[in-house]
Amino acid sequence: MYQNNSLLYKKHESNFIKLCECIRSDPENFPGGHQSTVNQYTMSKKTIQAELTVKRKTTITPHYIRITLTGDEVALFANTTPGANNKIFIPPAGVDKIYFPDFDYEKKQWVHQPGDVRPVVRTYTHRGYDAVNREMYIDFVVHGDNGPASAWALRCQPGDVLGVAMHDRATELVPAANWYFLIGDATAIPVLSNILETLPATAKGRAIIEVHDEADEQVIHTPSGVSIDWLYNDNPEAGSLLACTARRQHLPQPGVSKFAYVAAEFSTVKALRQYFRQEHHWTKEELYAFAYWRAGTSEEQSAPERHKENQEL
Ligand SMILES: Cc1cc2nc3c(=O)[nH]c(=O)nc-3n(C[C@H](O)[C@H](O)[C@H](O)COP(=O)(O)OP(=O)(O)OC[C@H]3O[C@@H](n4cnc5c(N)ncnc54)[C@H](O)[C@@H]3O)c2cc1C
Repeated sequence: MYQNNSLLYKKHESNFIKLCECIRSDPENFPGGHQSTVNQYTMSKKTIQAELTVKRKTTITPHYIRITLTGDEVALFANTTPGANNKIFIPPAGVDKIYFPDFDYEKKQWVHQPGDVRPVVRTYTHRGYDAVNREMYIDFVVHGDNGPASAWALRCQPGDVLGVAMHDRATELVPAANWYFLIGDATAIPVLSNILETLPATAKGRAIIEVHDEADEQVIHTPSGVSIDWLYNDNPEAGSLLACTARRQHLPQPGVSKFAYVAAEFSTVKALRQYFRQEHHWTKEELYAFAYWRAGTSEEQSAPERHKENQEL
């Protein structure tokens, strides 16, 4: 296995270097870049990009699909942390190979492949890795045919290819704290699940998660001191009650160490950043808040605003 890994790393060495260069010049636009507001420890600056194959497609709930990916290159993800974000590369219809972008060192920018083979790039969460079965998982909200990623998850079949890129490192998703407040819509279920599943057994706090309806609640293993409240919203593009529900939660007394993780639609994240930072004076170190999507726009269209919002307050 070790020898296989070495060979794979060798095979991808040039891409690793290119991608590391990119991280330095464009930290916001690269997988993991936005999570740097949470303490993270970089064990390696390498970045993986791999062409994987759909092995299985599982309906988790009516609006959630798990895609199990496999392939020789799955082993490259052995050092990554479930819950960290990735980039997925969806090939155009009829193309069964992933044409990853190159990096132009002189101009310090990505050079995309020609339009007829260029993959669509989206940001998702590395949900899990199984070394024994050589599998990794990504869970997709099914919000219809209106986005390439959602449409791909709905239609993909075993054997279809998907490109995945990630930093090759361990990531600390949340710092140590006495009280956690985890707030997210359906897109955040993978990261919140990974956080909840890995918090110490003594952890205390509350999670509020918004899903389509009761049938979309997922089983998440949590420490006994952390409760989950589920909210229902069958049209998240039209608005959300997450922010006003979160505002009703009693916050810990001064002196208790605390941490809030907010991942949801743009308006919710903006409202909650204002709430924690301006109304309650939580420090930047006590809050991770990032807009995972923006209603009415595609990921690439909303990226500048979402990253700008992340820098505010
Ligand atoms: C760090 C990070 C991690 C993420 N992890 C996950 C994950 O693990 N699983 C996951 O499902 N999503 C995740 N997301 C969110 C996902 O990237 C966005 O929902 C993305 O827009 C989906 O791409 P798309 O091609 O389906 O739609 P796009 O082409 O981006 O958008 C097309 C239309 O779809 C609508 N839309 C997009 N997302 C939703 C939604 N969730 N509900 C309703 N309408 C929507 C938009 O309003 C837009 O009008 C993550 C985002 C970030 C930034």
